[in-house]
Order: sequence, then structure tokens, then C-alpha cells
Amino acid sequence: MRISSELPLYRVTVPTPFPVGPVHLYVIAEPELTLIDSGPRTREARAELNRLLAADGFDPEKIRRIILTHSHQDHYGMAAELARRSGAAVYAHPVEHAVLRHDASVRRFIDRLIAESGTPPDLVEKMRRMIAFVGSTTESLDDVRSIDELPGVACGDARLEFVPLPGHTPGSVGLWEPRRSILIGGDAAISNITPNPFSSPDASQPHGRFRSLAEYWETFRRIRQLNPAIIHAGHLEPITDFPAYEKWSWDLHVRRQNLIVDAITAGARTVHQIALALFPEVVPQGAFLALTEILSHVDLLEEEGKIDASFENGIGVYHVAAPAMECGATLS
Ligand SMILES: [Zn+2]
Repeated sequence: MRISSELPLYRVTVPTPFPVGPVHLYVIAEPELTLIDSGPRTREARAELNRLLAADGFDPEKIRRIILTHSHQDHYGMAAELARRSGAAVYAHPVEHAVLRHDASVRRFIDRLIAESGTPPDLVEKMRRMIAFVGSTTESLDDVRSIDELPGVACGDARLEFVPLPGHTPGSVGLWEPRRSILIGGDAAISNITPNPFSSPDASQPHGRFRSLAEYWETFRRIRQLNPAIIHAGHLEPITDFPAYEKWSWDLHVRRQNLIVDAITAGARTVHQIALALFPEVVPQGAFLALTEILSHVDLLEEEGKIDASFENGIGVYHVAAPAMECGATLS
């Protein structure tokens, strides 16, 4: 479906087997057939992608370039297959490459994260099955290039610029058309959803974890400055009133942060216990997502000095920070 009267820009929507529902891919028709995101590697997504590309008059074998907004399975799963079929070059932000290549370090990071969460073994088993299923909707991308190699992406007579949108993942990127104020935003902002700021590796941080939630709000500030007329997202409807969306997201964030501090105050100590207090209906099916959501919050709460974190027998434990001493107060 063409989504711009002035630009050769199309949207193609394919199903995913995940709770988030269908994922939107974007197609730049000219001067070179370019696909933004690929959909997951499932029979259903493949059939729908072929059908919809043909309906818009595009031949999948003529795709010259695939740009990935980020390294989540519903966005990159089919990219290797499409690249093989068409000879297209695949591009993503360099910090996403380890995940896209199925690097063993990513698996080790996830294993450590689960081990430190205090999740009981039966639930860990369910989590592993879920992670294996999600992984089965992808294929590793052994030949992925950096978006730094591209000066932007031509779209008709316009040029889309890359905009870093870290938070949902460390190397999330958007494509920005300044004259028409159009942002293709991946999963940085999704109407009616606050995208999960996933825990990701980052060797420069205290826990080796990327400051996902802190960066997420930085990204929102960056989008606010761009002031897009429309954000074409990875899921659901486009966002046409970003300030309203940002306020709604912020209010939800503050409520969630307060609930987490309340849960810790009431005795929840591990990430698993906090997840259980906040999302009793999500655990166990969405246990890993709940875990990574809570981790992003506790990392930020710790950074803000609102909670303290330590380790007991290899498990991360949290408690509410002692109130800061008033100016002039002394220890007695
Ligand atoms: Zn995503």
C-alpha cells in the first residue's frame, strides 16, 4: 500500500507468531528497490510478503538493499533468505550485528541475565523454550553491513537520513525525511504500546547492560526535536501526535516506576519477584519479556539513586535506598 502521495514509499504488513501482532515493513520503490525490515522467517509471513509485493508490482528478486531498523526477530528473521534470493545487501547499525549474527556472546548475556533474576528452574525451562521458539523464526545474518557505509537512502528525489533511536535496542535506527517530516521509526514509538526497552549487552556499563530505559527517554527527546508530522512505526497505526504519545508513555512509565518501588518496599527483592508482583498474568508465558522490562526499570531506578542493588549468591537483589542525608545532618 502506497503511504505517501509524493514519495515512492509503500507499507507491507505481514503476520508474526508473537503477541505484538503483525509487523509493518516499508518499501522504497525508486531509484532502487529497498526493503526496510523483513518480517519473521515463517511460512505465513513469507507468503504474505510475496503476495503483497506482487500486488504493488514489486519483484522480491529485484530487492537491491535491505535496511534493518533493529535486531528483533519480527523485523529481521527473513532478511538472510530475502538477501540470498535477490542478492540484496543487508544493513543495520553496527551494535546490532552480534545479535543478527547469532553471536554466542548474546546467548551468554541472556543466560547470565536469567540466572541473576532469581527465576525458579521450572519457569527458566519455559523461558528457554520460548526463547528457542522465537529464535526459530530467524536465520543468522552472516553478511551484514554497517549503515555507516550509506550516506542515507534515496527515495524518489528525496533522501532519507538515518536517525539513531536507541532504547528499544541499542542500535535501533529510524529513517527521516526532513522536508515532508516523515519518520520511519521501527519500534522506537508504537501507538498504544510502550515498547519494551530490552536489556542488551554493553561492556561500558556497571552491570554490562546497556542503559536501555535512560536511552529510550533520550530518544523520545530527539524525536520531539525532530517534530515529525507522522511516524510510520513497526506495528499498529502511525503516530501523528508525538507530544501526546510521549506524555501518555511518560505517565505510564512513572506509574510503573512507582509500582516497582512499592513492590520492593513490600518485600519483592529479585527481578523475578518484582515481575511477579507487577505482571502476575504475564508470568509465565511472557516471563522473559517481563524480566527484561523490570530490569530496564531497576537499572534506571538504581542510576537515579532510588534503589540499591547488590548480589546474593549470584542473584541480583534490590532494596529501597536509604533517604539521602539532609544538608547539615551528621552521623551520630
Ligand atoms: Zn522490536
